Amino acid sequence: MSKVLVIAEHLDGKLNSSTARAISAAAAIKPEAIDVLVLSDKADAIAAEAAKIQGVNRVLTVERPENAHPLAAALAPQIAQVAAGYSHVFAPSTTFGKDVAPRVAALLGVAQVSDVMSVEDSHTFKRPIYAGNAIITVQADPSHIIVATIRTASWPAAANVANSASIEALSLDVALPSHTRFIELKQGKSDRPDLQSANKVVSGGRGVGSKENFEIIYKFADKIGAAVGASRAAVDAGYVPNELQVGQTGKIIAPELYMAIGISGAIQHLTGIKDAGTIVAINKDAEAPIFEIADIGLVGDLFKLIPELEQAID
Ligand code: FAD
Repeated sequence: MSKVLVIAEHLDGKLNSSTARAISAAAAIKPEAIDVLVLSDKADAIAAEAAKIQGVNRVLTVERPENAHPLAAALAPQIAQVAAGYSHVFAPSTTFGKDVAPRVAALLGVAQVSDVMSVEDSHTFKRPIYAGNAIITVQADPSHIIVATIRTASWPAAANVANSASIEALSLDVALPSHTRFIELKQGKSDRPDLQSANKVVSGGRGVGSKENFEIIYKFADKIGAAVGASRAAVDAGYVPNELQVGQTGKIIAPELYMAIGISGAIQHLTGIKDAGTIVAINKDAEAPIFEIADIGLVGDLFKLIPELEQAID
């Protein structure tokens, strides 16, 4: 029987919704147990949130000062030790999970299964390849533990339940490496929703034309309560910081509403929005490939159409 250990992702004392998505993938294996591991310097509030997620049997916490920041080099040896006794270790396929899971796999001497989109059985998974243009079915060796990252956009967040799972504090005897230490975190401050978990996302592309012009995207996003994203061309041109990039080499997202404004619809961009609900495109070129996948397409100049949309909302 399978036993899955899900690594909790959290920031500022709050659990990230990517954890509940990884728990949905764990539940698809129909395991005997799903435990969530919270590594933090202050784990109580995060563990309490995790304990309320449907399907969770136990929340395990490891509290130590070195876990104040998610340094993969420090977390991985602890995860590898807790992993003994589990058949699977799952982490979300976010920046956090992509950083930590390969180190865990390496420490356990196994190959990682990346970007699990669906579970066929406990050792067989589907995952995207060639920038999402093909889906491959992979089978992992059942004689080894499986370390996998879960493509969060492919899984709904497991619901919360009234009864909380038990929470157990672990004390591990693991020597942590001293070659990697936290110095500082430089983070863009924003009151906007988080791009990776927002229900609505408004993205601008090269068509927006400049950093100054991008104000129109920010303003419109704020009006509808959306997160802001961008194409790689907009990032490369310096219109926006690169944490806003959506696509193959940026964020893979699945909002209910995705608005692509001045974005042509290159395959590498579309990879990032494959699982979005409704896609709206605004582009002055009626032949732009984005219209092939858009549910609603507006052909015209974004600088004319966005103010019109704003007026209509008012
Ligand atoms: P363009 O292709 O230049 O399109 C701009 C669009 O704006 C055009 O369709 C134009 O008609 C429209 N437009 C111009 N002015 C207006 C106006 N006034 N009103 C309305 N519409 C207007 N790209 C990503 O986005 N994300 C990735 O993660 C990514 N990863 C990549 C990885 C690799 C290995 C490679 C090779 C490429 C990657 N790319 C990625 C780049 C990708 O191939 C495209 O170059 C990029 O997505 C194009 O961005 P864009 O649509 O903003 O620009």
